[in-house]
Order: sequence, then C-alpha cells, then structure tokens
Amino acid sequence: MFNLVIFGAPGSGKGTQSQKLIDRYGFTHISTGDVLRSQIAAGTELGKIADSYISKGQLIPDDLMVDILAQEVDRLRPQSNGFIFDGFPRTIPQAEALKKMLEQRGEEVHSVIGLEVADEELMERLVKRGVDSGRSDDNPETIGRRLKVYHDTTSPLREYYSNEGKYTPIHGSGHVDEIFTNIVNAIESHPALKA
Ligand code: AMP
Repeated sequence: MFNLVIFGAPGSGKGTQSQKLIDRYGFTHISTGDVLRSQIAAGTELGKIADSYISKGQLIPDDLMVDILAQEVDRLRPQSNGFIFDGFPRTIPQAEALKKMLEQRGEEVHSVIGLEVADEELMERLVKRGVDSGRSDDNPETIGRRLKVYHDTTSPLREYYSNEGKYTPIHGSGHVDEIFTNIVNAIESHPALKA
C-alpha cells in the first residue's frame, strides 16, 4: 500500500488533486469532510453533532474524528492499494493517532503533499465554491474562521511532517494539470510507490 496525506488549507485544491490521483493510481480516497457531510445529509446522530461544529467553522473533537477515520480505514482497507487522506489529520494529536493506527495495521504514512496557496486566493476560491455548490460553510464569515483554525491548529503539521522527512510543499496556484505534474514528480520517486 502507498498512503498519502494531501494537506492544505480549505480551498487549496485537495479534492481536485485527490480525484486526479485516484484516476491515475486507483488509490482509495478518504475525505473526512465528505464523510461528515454525508452523515449530515442522512440526518444521523453523528451528522447532528458534526453540523454543530462545521456550521461554525470549528473542528470536530479529535477523539470523535479519530474513531470515524479508523472505521473508514477498516471498512475500505480490504479492497485498497493505498489511501489518500484528505482533510485528516488537522491537528497534531490527529497526526499522532493516525501514525499509531496505521502502525497497528502494519502500515504508515509514506508521503505528505502540502498544497500551498495564499489566503486571498483561498478566500476568493471558497466564496466562488459556496455560490457554485451551495456548501453552507463556504460563506465569508465561516471561511475566515476556518482559515484562522488552519493557521493556528493545522499548519503546525507542516513542521511535524517535515521533521519526519515526509513533507513536500507544492505551489498550489496556477493550472490544475501543472500542479498535478508536480505532485506526481514528488511521489513517483518514493520506493513504496514503485513497489
Ligand atoms: P473539509 O471538507 O475538509 O473542508 O471539512 C469541512 C469541515 O468538516 C471542517 O471545517 C471541520 O469542521 C470538519 N472536519 C473535516 N475534517 C476534520 C478533521 N480531520 N478534524 C476535525 N474536523 C474536521
């Protein structure tokens, strides 16, 4: 298996680039935001809890999020050749829990691709996405809070994964295909992908 974290602020292109990675490599995509939104749409208890955080631009508590992720990993692992983790981890405790959880399953995170985009561009992209998709947390007030959470709580993971020798920053502005080529170049050299 080849396990990749696609990392970046809201609106940095994680979903778009994940889809291109799936098309090329057949990886299994786990987007924690998508998992939560489907729970909200289904009106489950978990969905109600998730909505109370998401609508305020806040993070779901780590313990709950880690449980949800572990369930997804175990559900999808039998038919997977590798995971793309999109939107997880978002905190240092989540990164530590992911490491432990994968270790217990004889796995590891092989590479972390960080899509780096300036805040002004993120804001523009997210406001536009809100209009196109109707996502309720893509409004200027909630976007501002989500970007603050990203800078305060999530961006320290760049240093965490750099210290592990796993972080590759990728310039996330410009053409989608050029960004994808840079991601492919970054991961193709990894021995676990060639295996
Ligand atoms: P996303 O689609 O990844 O932008 O996630 C949308 C929202 O879901 C976030 O603003 C959080 O409220 C929640 N969420 C998604 N992933 C996580 C996570 N790993 N930890 C905590 N909250 C999360």
